[in-house]
Amino acid sequence: MQIPRCLLYCFIASCAYAQESLDPSSPYLSGNYQIYYCTTYSVHISQLLQSIWHTIAEALEHLEAMGPEGTPLYNSFFHKADPNKIKGVLSRIAAGDNIAFQGSLQPPLIICDDPSVPAVARSWGHAACQHDPLAHALWGEGTHAVFLCQNYLRNKRVIPSEKQCVGWNRLSTGWLLGETQWTVLFHELVHLYLGVPNLVPEIRGIFEVQDLDSEDAVRNPPSYGFFLANMKAGCKKFRPKASLRAHGRKLSDNSTFDVDLIAQDHLIRNETARNCGDLCLWGVS
Ligand SMILES: [Zn+2]
Repeated sequence: MQIPRCLLYCFIASCAYAQESLDPSSPYLSGNYQIYYCTTYSVHISQLLQSIWHTIAEALEHLEAMGPEGTPLYNSFFHKADPNKIKGVLSRIAAGDNIAFQGSLQPPLIICDDPSVPAVARSWGHAACQHDPLAHALWGEGTHAVFLCQNYLRNKRVIPSEKQCVGWNRLSTGWLLGETQWTVLFHELVHLYLGVPNLVPEIRGIFEVQDLDSEDAVRNPPSYGFFLANMKAGCKKFRPKASLRAHGRKLSDNSTFDVDLIAQDHLIRNETARNCGDLCLWGVS
């Protein structure tokens, strides 16, 4: 998607402004995570983080106990990938490790889109939320921040539930697991901690995600998102790899609906984020 040139300048200019104005004295702390400008949502976001950490602990146990043949859940999303790669990302998210940034280590930030705060109103995150009215959350490549749009805060689907699992009923494709607040936040944190270049473009449709080969799956945040959301929801059935293709169904049939509207984190990545360079500081010193 091409972003209008004026918007590009706005992004760049806004980064510098945000650096000056982000108030380092008032984050809401959740472990090592610093939550900014989320006002009454701060506690809620902190609870989502804690719930994610709890499920990560479960997932790490699952991976530890798993034999070389894997498990239906693991194989469904990661196939033959080395589980140590998945463990590394999950562990860093749960620990909230500091992130290398501009020559120092900085804590992970979660920033809510509150346009009444000048620093936020002029930031890359707010501009991106405005640019795509369907965007829910963004990761600022080159920063240590995740940005949550108003759409995210208004999303009524909060926690993955069993009713969203594949096979729960004839209408359930498992797709809804990817669009809860819980899953979207986790997805952005995977970006933050992946530590290797993620798959571009990222593959978001659940069936297409299941069809990725192992090497691509470990670089694709939605693969982690569906893996952990399935665990959180207690899903028991997993569609065999490529089963839809075998039936001649177009894999993208269900893949442009929910998550694509939600995890619009690539909106600014390719076109503008790299251009922000040193200006893109959400620095807390
Ligand atoms: Zn993403």
